[in-house]
Formats: sequence, C-alpha cells, structure tokens
Amino acid sequence: MVFEYAPAPESRSIVSIAPEYGLFIDGGFTAPVDDQLFTTTNPATEEVLSRVSEAREHDVDRAVAAARRAFEQTWGPMPGAERAKYLYRIARLIQERSRELAVLETLDNGKPIKETRDVDLPLVAAHFFYHAGWADKLEHAGYGPSPRPLGVAGQIIPWNFPLLMLAWKVAPALACGNTVVLKAAETTPLTALAFAEICQQADLPPGVVNILTGAGDTGRMLVEHPGTDKIAFTGSTDVGRSIMRAVAGTDKRLTLELGGKGANVVFDDAPIDETVEGIVSGIFFNQGHVCCAGSRLLLQESVADEVVERLKERLSTLRLGDPLDKNTDIGAINSAEQLARIDELAKSGEEENAERWSSPCPLPDRGWWFPPTIFTGVTQAHRIAREEIFGPVLSVLTFRTPDEAVAKANNTPFGLSAGIWTEKGSRILWMAQRMRAGVVWANTFNRFDPTSPFGGYKESGFGREGGIQGLGAYLATEVAR
Ligand code: NAD
Ligand code: MN
Repeated sequence: MVFEYAPAPESRSIVSIAPEYGLFIDGGFTAPVDDQLFTTTNPATEEVLSRVSEAREHDVDRAVAAARRAFEQTWGPMPGAERAKYLYRIARLIQERSRELAVLETLDNGKPIKETRDVDLPLVAAHFFYHAGWADKLEHAGYGPSPRPLGVAGQIIPWNFPLLMLAWKVAPALACGNTVVLKAAETTPLTALAFAEICQQADLPPGVVNILTGAGDTGRMLVEHPGTDKIAFTGSTDVGRSIMRAVAGTDKRLTLELGGKGANVVFDDAPIDETVEGIVSGIFFNQGHVCCAGSRLLLQESVADEVVERLKERLSTLRLGDPLDKNTDIGAINSAEQLARIDELAKSGEEENAERWSSPCPLPDRGWWFPPTIFTGVTQAHRIAREEIFGPVLSVLTFRTPDEAVAKANNTPFGLSAGIWTEKGSRILWMAQRMRAGVVWANTFNRFDPTSPFGGYKESGFGREGGIQGLGAYLATEVAR
C-alpha cells in the first residue's frame, strides 16, 4: 500500500520582497537606477522576484572606500570584545529571522525548504556564533601574541548556498577585524540584501559590511581594485584561475574555493542501508549543486550490483517538485544555463556509452528541473567521470582492492572531498591518509560544522574556511600563509 502525500507548502507570506533594490554601501542602500537593474528569478516557477542593481566601477570604488574608512576609523581599532557583541547580535537576528530567510532563499535559489530550514540557516547562525567567540580570543588562536587584520576584504560568492557562503566569508573576516565588500551571485542576490538589513538592525557601524550585486564583471572590478587587501572567492575553477592571474604581482592575499569531483568509496563490508542514504545525500542534496558532492561513486565490485539496485529503488521514492513544499527532496535547478550544462554533460555520458538511468518522477511544466540520474559502466576516461557536473547526476565506477580504490579516487585534477564507507576503523584511517582531498568523511557525507576547516587541494583551490585554520586567512601573519 502506497500513501500519497498531501501538499504541505510553507507559506511565503512571511517574506516581503521589494520590487527593486539598490546597493548596500556605507550603511545605507543606494537608490536603484533604472539602466542598472537586472532581474532575479524563482527557478521553480520562472517568476521574476525582483530587480537588483548591477554595481559598476564607481559603485565598487565607493564600497571599497567606505570599507577602508570603517577599517581605519571604527572596526579596525575596536577591541575584539566589542566586535564580538556585534557578531552575536547578527547571529541572534539571523536566528530570529530564520524562517523568513529560509523561505527567501528557497524562492530565489530553488532548493527545498527542508534544506534551507534545517541545514543552511542553522549553519549560517552557527558560523556567526562560532566566530563571535573568536573575536576576543585571537591571541590564543596560534597566530602569535597580537595577530592583526589584513584590512579590506573583497569577497565573491556563488549561487548554490547563497547565505551560507556569505556567512563563511563575512563572519571570520569581521571576527578578525577586517571590513568587507561582498559580491553576491547574480541569480541569488536576495538573502545577501536581507543580510544587509540585518547589519542595519544590528547597528553595525557604516562601511564594515558592504553588499554589491552584479555579475562577473562586478566581481572582476572588485578583484582588480587597488583598495582591497584580500580576495576570497568561491566559484568555478576557470574564474579562480583568472582571479589568480589578476592578483599575481600584487600584495593581495588570496583564498580560492573552487570545484570538485569527490569520490565516495564503498567497501563490501559497508552497512548497506546507511550507505545508500549517504550516497543519496552525497550527490542529490541541493540538486547536486555542491562543490564537495560525492559525484563519483566507487563501488567494490562484489557489492556493486546490489548497491546500484538499492540506490535506484531509493531514488524512485525521492519527491521532486515545489521547493516550498515541506515534503520535497529535490528542488529546481538554479538557472537555465546550469540546466543546459547538466544536460550537455549527461548527453556526453550517453554518447560515450555509459548506461543512463533516471528516476521516473514527473517534472513540473514550468521552471528548470533535472531528475535524479545515475550512470553505470563509467570508466575514468569518460567526461562524466572527470568533469564537474554540478547537478543531480552520479557516475558509478567499480574497484577490486583498496589500492585500486585510492588510485581511482585520486585520479582527478580536483581534491575537495571524499567519502569512505566500511565497517573497519583501520581501513578508514588507511584510506583517509591516502586520499588527496581537503575533507574526508567516513560513514557519513556532507557534514558541516563551523569548527571544522574546509578547503581543497589541486584545482579545488587553496586556503581553508572554518575552524582555527580559517582565521589565518584573515590575519596578517606569516604563519597563516
Ligand atoms: P562562477 O565562478 O561563474 O561564479 C561564481 C561567482 O564569481 C559569481 O558571483 C560570479 O558573478 C563571480 N564571477 C564570475 N566571473 C568573475 C570574474 N571574472 N571575476 C570575479 N568574479 C567573477 O561559478 P558558477 O558556475 O556560477 O558556480 C558554480 C561553480 O562554483 C562550480 O564549479 C562549483 O564547484 C563552484 N563552487 C565551489 C565551492 C567551494 O567551496 N569550493 C562552493 C560553491 C561552488
Ligand atoms: Mn534567483
């Protein structure tokens, strides 16, 4: 007997979206200028949600100048214990407004409400609480007796976890005494603008946080601006490369969090039910728009058929549709461009003779959607085994021995995340030592905590965010380099 779910939509009445937004500079919003506006859309319905401003050269100038003034006059000289109060205040305001922010994020991004409500927002608040705790204890963080801030940080974030990526960037920067100019991603600017209001509510001194909206060009201007002391970027490896070229020869500090092609390695002694759940959350969480997704599944040959069968059964039960419905597991693809990229790579998998299976779930008529999909018969030569798809598509490979698993897992230009599924603790440690990945999860996947550093090797970038290690990215100390 199969029960149908009744619709359980979260109300959007808690959110009020202005028809137009200016830029948040020096503690206030600029007036929206008509020829500077671009739209942001709900990817589940294609409804235009609002029009936001594209920051141009003089806007970037003003934002950087405001951040510089705040660094020199208010935030820089302020004792850490005072900075901490502001960060705690911001954290509490985020908690108070978390339902509103979760709905807003779901509307603008397309991810399911159960994820924004239960994952994104709690982690956003946790990042501010955690870093508030550090603000007055930096001399005990291992960066010398009086670690100094860098100055003005230019920060550029992607669309897959809009508010969470903002928190990862802003919280450590402010805790360490820096001021920031942050550029939100072009398809998901609304929660960053809501955060600007929260800065006002918290009475944060003007210029400490400046929020710019705009596309790649705005990001480039921020990177190239001579007034920024540090650039922190999360996004694609290609853009990461261009940023690295742009800051070469300057004395700007740089951290890059780029793409990934994480291996999720399953041994024949892994507990199968848990493992299947872990594989699902590893690649289908957030529609696979996750840089550290477990997008390459490596199965020990003796259990491969069974795991794939169980996985297909499980995927057939996932509910795809209205992201605001509390029962929805898979939301919308963030943009038409991203959907085209996923389609193109999935087609390449078929053309290169991997076997495609897609969940039979119906897709809504409007909006951008892609069903949970598995490719079996994938070899290391396939594009879908080498390139980041950034969508709900899993490539399955097999192995026979632990050595072969390590070799295959590491056979990638990336090095962000990896997973190990086995009952043996000794094997977990043996594998973890050999995996070239910044994060290795064992018998779990996609777990995040502000106390734990996150970052990559190789083409996944460099520098760490979170934990004591993440503080080093915002402090002027040789130890941190
Ligand atoms: P993208 O690199 O095109 O965009 C990311 C951000 O950079 C956006 O705000 C964009 O406007 C800005 N940008 C674009 N061109 C720029 C330029 N020349 N100079 C400065 N800024 C510029 O990435 P995308 O395709 O929108 O996002 C998906 C990618 O991001 C994936 O490859 C994914 O792996 C990666 N990502 C990585 C992490 C991580 O933590 N490592 C997290 C999320 C996403
Ligand atoms: Mn949007």
